[in-house]
Amino acid sequence: MQFERFFQSNLEGLREAGNYRVFADLARQRGQFPAATRYREDGTEQDVTVWCSNDYLGMGQNKIVVDAMKDAIDRCGAGAGGTRNISGTNHYHVLLERELADLHGKEAALIFTSGYVSNWAALGTLLAKIPGIIVYSDALNHASMIEGIRHSKCERRIFKHNDPEHLRELMAADDPAAPKLVAFESVYSMDGDIAPIEAICDVADAFGAMTYLDEVHAVGMYGPRGGGVAEREGLMDRLTVIEGTLGKAFGVMGGYITGSAALCDFVRSFASGFIFTTALPPALAAGAAASIKHLKASELERRRHKDAVAKVRATLDRHGIPHMANPSHIVPVMVGNAAKCKWISDVLIDSYGIYVQPINYPTVPVGTERLRITPTPLHTDGDIARLSQALNDLWSQCALARQVA
Ligand SMILES: *Cc1c(COP(=O)(O)O)cnc(C)c1O
Repeated sequence: MQFERFFQSNLEGLREAGNYRVFADLARQRGQFPAATRYREDGTEQDVTVWCSNDYLGMGQNKIVVDAMKDAIDRCGAGAGGTRNISGTNHYHVLLERELADLHGKEAALIFTSGYVSNWAALGTLLAKIPGIIVYSDALNHASMIEGIRHSKCERRIFKHNDPEHLRELMAADDPAAPKLVAFESVYSMDGDIAPIEAICDVADAFGAMTYLDEVHAVGMYGPRGGGVAEREGLMDRLTVIEGTLGKAFGVMGGYITGSAALCDFVRSFASGFIFTTALPPALAAGAAASIKHLKASELERRRHKDAVAKVRATLDRHGIPHMANPSHIVPVMVGNAAKCKWISDVLIDSYGIYVQPINYPTVPVGTERLRITPTPLHTDGDIARLSQALNDLWSQCALARQVA
């Protein structure tokens, strides 16, 4: 086989379909978020404003977090030195797991090297090990949950997105004696819609099912202590497992599950994706713990963040730039055409110094191509005005439809 030719022709296929992914080559500037330096292909540099970061609160640039990481490096050095089982468990890991269990009101927590790995490993292990279990998975669940479910090879049903009635129908059609697990998210990242958590838990309870909630886009952001949407709605005790990331609002890296002591111990003891991989560097654990601790006590970031989201939406409305209504912090500006979406994104960064990655198929359905804008507490009124003005110009140039507010 001509391997190189195979790779090239598949990449060509992506390019022709407009799905080839191009990364922006950026250096974040410490303490200057959302400013970054862009390294252009022609070797020149450009200052840009980032409008599509998942560091939703700018905690990745927060002095408390950066100082905690530096301090941990000074004390413990760079790496963890092994898997958790063999020489890699550091005191910072233990402290972080305590912080997380407390955040979600659970007995225990278990950290992984990413949110992706935590979903893949926890769902993969629970569903493979519980004999005869059936999983009910929301139709729009994240790839990491889908991969965990696939890996387990268990029976699976897909319920319509955010539809507890469809979930009930599917569960009622299955053997009442079969163990069951319902897997879903709180905030869905592309549309920014929020699951009816209580209604889903009610259905799950009626069938004796476990509930597994991915709060990746909500931890740090919602609830009085940043425990997520389930905390805000007083539902944390209704979830068997709450899963989250340390890489988005907490600004660092890593993932976790929280749940009963026995469940976390079970995953710790059987999950290949936990056991056979080097533990997080102590500095990451220290930074994440500092970030969580800070956001438990401080409402300031969440309040300023809400204000920024409201300002962005209001400014877009004034220009008639269409954005999808939703109850979260994610502002999907709808373009509805892959080529135009990519073009707008290219001109935004090249001519306006505004970085918003285009979101095209297969991440979202064809015809719903969009710019996924994530305001942060660190975007100024000037940043917001420049973004809206630029979009206003480009909407005219592309002859895109306006929305009358
Ligand atoms: C980003 C994401 C993950 C993975 O988290 P990482 O820490 O980035 O690996 C899991 N679930 C959802 C819904 C996500 O958007």
